Amino acid sequence: MADKILVLKDVKKYYTGTQAVVMGLGGVDLSFARGEFVAITGESGSGKSTLAHVMGGILPYESGEMYFNGAPTSHFDSLDYERYRRDNVSFISQNYGILPGATVWKNVVSALLLSGMGRQEAAQAAQKLLRQVELWDLRRRRAAKLSSGQKQRLSIARALAKPAPILIADEPTGNLDAENSAKVISLLAEAARDRLVILVTHEFAEAEALATRRIILSDGLVVQDIPLRDPEEPAPLRGAQRKQKRALSLYVAGLQTGSRPIWATTVAAFFALTAFAVFAFLGVFIINLDDTSTYQYDAKTFPNGSKERIIVSTLDGSPMTQEDYDALLKVKHVTALEPNGYVSDVFYGYREGIDYVTKYELHISGDFFGFHSVSSFVSFANNLPCLQTVPLLPKGRTFLAEGKLPESFYEVAVRRGVAEIGDTIDVLIKDSRYLSDPIPLQVQVVGLTDYGSGIYFSRDLGRMFTQMIKVSQDHNSNPRLFFYLPHEEVEEGTFFPSTSYAHTLGDLNIIDVSFAVIDPGREQTEITLRKMMRIGDKDSHDYPFSKLILTSYQDFDALTWNSPSEQVSLTISDYAYTDRVIAAVQKLGYIAASPYRLGSTKQVPELAKERMQTLQICLTALIAVVALQILLLRALFSVQTDSFRILSNIGLTSRTARASVLWQILLFTLLGQVVGGLAVWLCGCNGVERIEQMLRYLPPANILILSGVHLAASLLAAVLVIRGMEKQVYPLAGKYRDLNMGEGKEDAL
Ligand code: ADP
Repeated sequence: MADKILVLKDVKKYYTGTQAVVMGLGGVDLSFARGEFVAITGESGSGKSTLAHVMGGILPYESGEMYFNGAPTSHFDSLDYERYRRDNVSFISQNYGILPGATVWKNVVSALLLSGMGRQEAAQAAQKLLRQVELWDLRRRRAAKLSSGQKQRLSIARALAKPAPILIADEPTGNLDAENSAKVISLLAEAARDRLVILVTHEFAEAEALATRRIILSDGLVVQDIPLRDPEEPAPLRGAQRKQKRALSLYVAGLQTGSRPIWATTVAAFFALTAFAVFAFLGVFIINLDDTSTYQYDAKTFPNGSKERIIVSTLDGSPMTQEDYDALLKVKHVTALEPNGYVSDVFYGYREGIDYVTKYELHISGDFFGFHSVSSFVSFANNLPCLQTVPLLPKGRTFLAEGKLPESFYEVAVRRGVAEIGDTIDVLIKDSRYLSDPIPLQVQVVGLTDYGSGIYFSRDLGRMFTQMIKVSQDHNSNPRLFFYLPHEEVEEGTFFPSTSYAHTLGDLNIIDVSFAVIDPGREQTEITLRKMMRIGDKDSHDYPFSKLILTSYQDFDALTWNSPSEQVSLTISDYAYTDRVIAAVQKLGYIAASPYRLGSTKQVPELAKERMQTLQICLTALIAVVALQILLLRALFSVQTDSFRILSNIGLTSRTARASVLWQILLFTLLGQVVGGLAVWLCGCNGVERIEQMLRYLPPANILILSGVHLAASLLAAVLVIRGMEKQVYPLAGKYRDLNMGEGKEDAL
């Protein structure tokens, strides 16, 4: 009896229905060995299927004992049965149990791989098996497209691929014609060379020539047990189920997706959609965490609160050198550098009535000369442009499109289209912090540029203002403007004949014009002066500024050129890059700040509320997408349950099944992120404003966060998909670990 693989002692099986208890087997004594090809026959309802199912571990029995390899099985719970089936039984039924979407080849190879074979070995064995069942020529056909006979032969090939010592075929020829039936029977007979083959049939005749034994059942009892011929000495069974290779999960993942192209496309599209949604909602959420935009800009500190401006100073206050400029221009997203950093906070207006309005007041003094004067008061509009001098641009970019660079104070370059070369523009300049009065300048367009916007003044003017502002900052004194004029144009004593004076101090011609009134009769003087500055209106001759030092070019140079500023202004391509540029500049060893941020001090409640709403909407939408992903994914993956069940019958362990789901979801997530990311990018390129903004604002590190969140949502969904699948396919999988049954076979879980 030791070599008996299955022994049944007085095995009874009852079916408990709603009304009555029906006897399936009424006390069966049988024993079987490998090498036998047993035909179980009998009338319909005699218990053939019941016996086959009990031996196959598909049905439990109520009393008696069934021994497998000498070990009793009556204490088996459903888990024990599952392992028994998985490791020891191949079951062939009328409905084939093949993967309909997969090819013939894959159906067989997967069974071999699941038994733990390597790829090459499996390919060889599959070829052998397919030739054996005469399906080699059809190996590339999908299983669903086979005829019934071919399907049944395929299911036999699959059953043979599994190295189980017991093969049970329950009416395998039920759907087949005589020719196909004969083929199936002979295949089963061959299978009996190394295993026990049980054939349930109501057509004994078809098996008569090959079966080694016939058992006849009637009313659940064995009525005859007829040996027909001696079974051959069984060949050793090909190695038992081996540990499944890790890569097998990837193979199963491919098998599951590959056999469902439409499903796979749907799932991929779904992942692309969720990736897109996560990217968009989370992206907008992240950029809205910066609440600067909800504050109103207060120009008191920095009149130029341009969003794209970054102020940079040296740590120790030492002046910047050309090397500093070069290093700063190399920082990513920096588009220009204004070497006269302070000048960026001096604003100007050039359209009377739009940028500024001038009001005049007549003063009649009571003195006996009957002296009267007209004062002008200028009020400026808000949001004036700030002074820009010709900036330094990164290598490879040129500032000038036409004409020449502004060289003197009276020359400017403008953006192409704003004015023509040779045009004259009247400008009023004012620094709201230090200059109490605006300074008029009449300037001429000498160059055109495609860079930026507004008017670009000469570097000299920038230097002059920088000097002036610095002096007033450092000494808290009145600002002094250093203008140069050629010596010969300054005529001492004749220039400002009434209350002004000019005198020479060393090489400096100093003209203090704070009290100057020009003689209206001296047209010539006025014209000379207008070259330098515009003087209000022709009726008004008050100089609206405080101190002016007129100096020669050489002196001007000496006073300003040798003291370049320790502070510059950078222009960046978008406010979005502020943090990144500041960080990069700080890393280079400078102080850096965004004046726009520093000056945005007063919160606007409506904007703040709007921002909160945007944050809430994004967060809600994000949670909804994640929840949707989890819920829908479970439903989407439920189509795999049947094939998982089929695969589990031929040995797919739940660990490999789990890993295969994980693989699928990971790969779909990756694919979805690529497609979804591409869609986001396309939206950004095609003017979807929020997305465009988001793409600029998100540094690469944050893009990783977006991917991470989408991946986390996918993994969460994967956990639930896996749980659902296990519940269906491996109902008690979690408890395997506690069991210790069989012959110490490696625990698959
Ligand atoms: P066979 O395969 O020889 O036709 P079965 O094993 O299917 O016989 O049936 C044996 C007996 O058990 C019959 O009386 C049948 O009615 C009964 N039986 C089989 N399956 C069930 C079931 N699921 N529920 C109740 N009775 C069943």
